[in-house]
Amino acid sequence: MYGLYIHVPFCASRCIYCDFYSTTLGADVRRRYVAALCAEIEARRDETAGSRLHTIYIGGGTPSQLTIDELAQIVDAVRACHDTAAVAETTIEANPDDVTPRWAVAVRRLGFDRVSLGVQTFDDDLLRFLSRRHTAAQACSAVATLREAGFTNLSIDLMYGLPGQTAESWRRDLTTALSLPVAHLSAYSLMFESGTRLTAMRDKGLVSEADEELSLAMFRALEEEAERAGFEHYEISNFARPGRRSLHNASYWDGTPYVGFGPAAHSFDGARRRWNTSDVAAYAAWPGHPPCATEQLTLHDRYDEYVMTRLRTCDGLCPDEIERRFGSAFSLHFRRAAAPHLQAGRLVPAAAGSLRLSREALFVSDAVMSDLMWPDET
Ligand code: SF4
Repeated sequence: MYGLYIHVPFCASRCIYCDFYSTTLGADVRRRYVAALCAEIEARRDETAGSRLHTIYIGGGTPSQLTIDELAQIVDAVRACHDTAAVAETTIEANPDDVTPRWAVAVRRLGFDRVSLGVQTFDDDLLRFLSRRHTAAQACSAVATLREAGFTNLSIDLMYGLPGQTAESWRRDLTTALSLPVAHLSAYSLMFESGTRLTAMRDKGLVSEADEELSLAMFRALEEEAERAGFEHYEISNFARPGRRSLHNASYWDGTPYVGFGPAAHSFDGARRRWNTSDVAAYAAWPGHPPCATEQLTLHDRYDEYVMTRLRTCDGLCPDEIERRFGSAFSLHFRRAAAPHLQAGRLVPAAAGSLRLSREALFVSDAVMSDLMWPDET
């Protein structure tokens, strides 16, 4: 089984907090990008031979900045090179201001069955501060439009810990989000990434980061409100109605291979990671064979990644599965390192002999994770 990811590196404008690779260049570059992307999908078709395609995810950037014709070319290229008969989920990310009734119907006809909307907040002042292009009303209207077009599997992204955001305004965001007919909610604490305008503002003393106490209170409110609304907290930042977990993201958390196309897209075949150039001009200059780098992961690297990603989930990880995947030295290390955390209640038993982070430890998971990782000196 494998997942397929396509990176669309275009945005109408840049948000002040974002460090994802994207550009605001226009239609000409976009056309060359689409041609190069289709060529890459064709050139790398044999990499996944013998495996079954399980999920497709078009992310960005802003995929809804592509024209329907450009999206159709990409979908056709995927269908020509991959067997899509058993695909269980096909997601496209969109910005609320791009969602029109025509767009919604067209992407549904192209075969997308899930839309992930970048909402971030329902506070118009904060949206303006973040340089988002949409308003709260547009976000609500985009959800309604997508529902009318037949989408029942909708996800929205929110952010908390925004400069000036209070516990009350975050609760209002949650109330609005959870009153919408969406099946999935992702909520992230704002990060001050290096090189962003937001971080430059902080460094000049113009804004400050939310303190730890407020961030924790916001996280607790998120857990409470989402669970009260019937959402399962299945990963640190992700909540889903029953049966609506993100299948594509879940594959990142359980070590399923994935193939990524487009500038800055990553691929993972189970042992080797590959990432394409983060430069759309360089990408388009080499149709089908973009500059890329690769890294062979050691068994230790793979164990560390497995522990980190599995511990983020409510299913946790099972020592027997560690033994099966990595061998007895790793499961022994895990059992020994986990024991004090189990005793202190930071790790708790989960289903089928697994251990997961307790509710209290979820927000401060780094210390537990680092203890469980393979020690450098051995
Ligand atoms: S947050 Fe989304 S829309 Fe904003 S710049 Fe980043 S990728 Fe583009």
